[in-house]
Amino acid sequence: MVIARTIDELNEAKKVLRGTIGFVPTMGALHHGHLSLMRQAKEENEHLIVSIFVNPTQFLEGEDLESYPRKDEADIKICELLEVDILFMPTIEQMYEADELCIGAPKVKGYILEGEKRPGHFDGMLQVVMKLLNLSSATKAYFGKKDAQQLVLITQMVKNYFMDVEIIACEIVRDDNGLALSSRNIYLSQEQMQRALLLSKSLKRATKLVMAGELNVKLIQQEMQTVLKGTDEVEYVAIVDREFNTLKEVEIGNTIILVAAWVGKPRLIDNLWI
Ligand code: AMP
Repeated sequence: MVIARTIDELNEAKKVLRGTIGFVPTMGALHHGHLSLMRQAKEENEHLIVSIFVNPTQFLEGEDLESYPRKDEADIKICELLEVDILFMPTIEQMYEADELCIGAPKVKGYILEGEKRPGHFDGMLQVVMKLLNLSSATKAYFGKKDAQQLVLITQMVKNYFMDVEIIACEIVRDDNGLALSSRNIYLSQEQMQRALLLSKSLKRATKLVMAGELNVKLIQQEMQTVLKGTDEVEYVAIVDREFNTLKEVEIGNTIILVAAWVGKPRLIDNLWI
């Protein structure tokens, strides 16, 4: 495995790759969610490039940029074990100059839900993903459904900018207890971990309702809010179609149910595609 810390090193390492490239961009502190993306990318391509970059432009003032979990040594070992071809770990200076042009998230889809609660987050996310996709020369790039709105916006960016890469949506990986894996889960105490389960429990409640034939969005949202009462603060419970348009009734096969809530230090998100 080559560890590339500069653009030149990345380009040099790419020269010897022949065939399709699967690419998995991450912010590190790798867990089984990341690993499932990497395994899928490995299976579907001849080569695998992984990036680890905690991108400053997608963090808002006051967010956890400085304290974001970093585990470079362990991450490097994991990537070696998974037979990653190139691990790209650039510095901020490699990725950005002082006065850059920026692309912006779409004015509606990029500024609701996560985009409303974290204004500017998606601008920074798209900016770095555009750079990373271009740098990777990937055939296919893999993103988790865990960050559903991010995934939909990246797919739109690739379409709107005629980028020559296929975006692959990957299933959410959960702990046995249902908690969606996240690098930020390490902030949770044992007691908070129990309350964090309320997010996936609220989604299970929604599934049960839909399976029983209840499609009314307001009613499902109310039921989910009841389940979520033990969290510190619910930021949103939303039911949208796969393009993030609001729905009055669940459309089976075209719906995403999303929840964001605070439990202790971390702000947690989870969702369900039905
Ligand atoms: P991050 O390092 O948090 O920026 O995540 C990197 C990629 O891993 C993103 O595409 C995430 O959506 C994906 N990811 C994070 N957590 C999970 C999970 N529990 N299951 C599946 N994919 C995930």
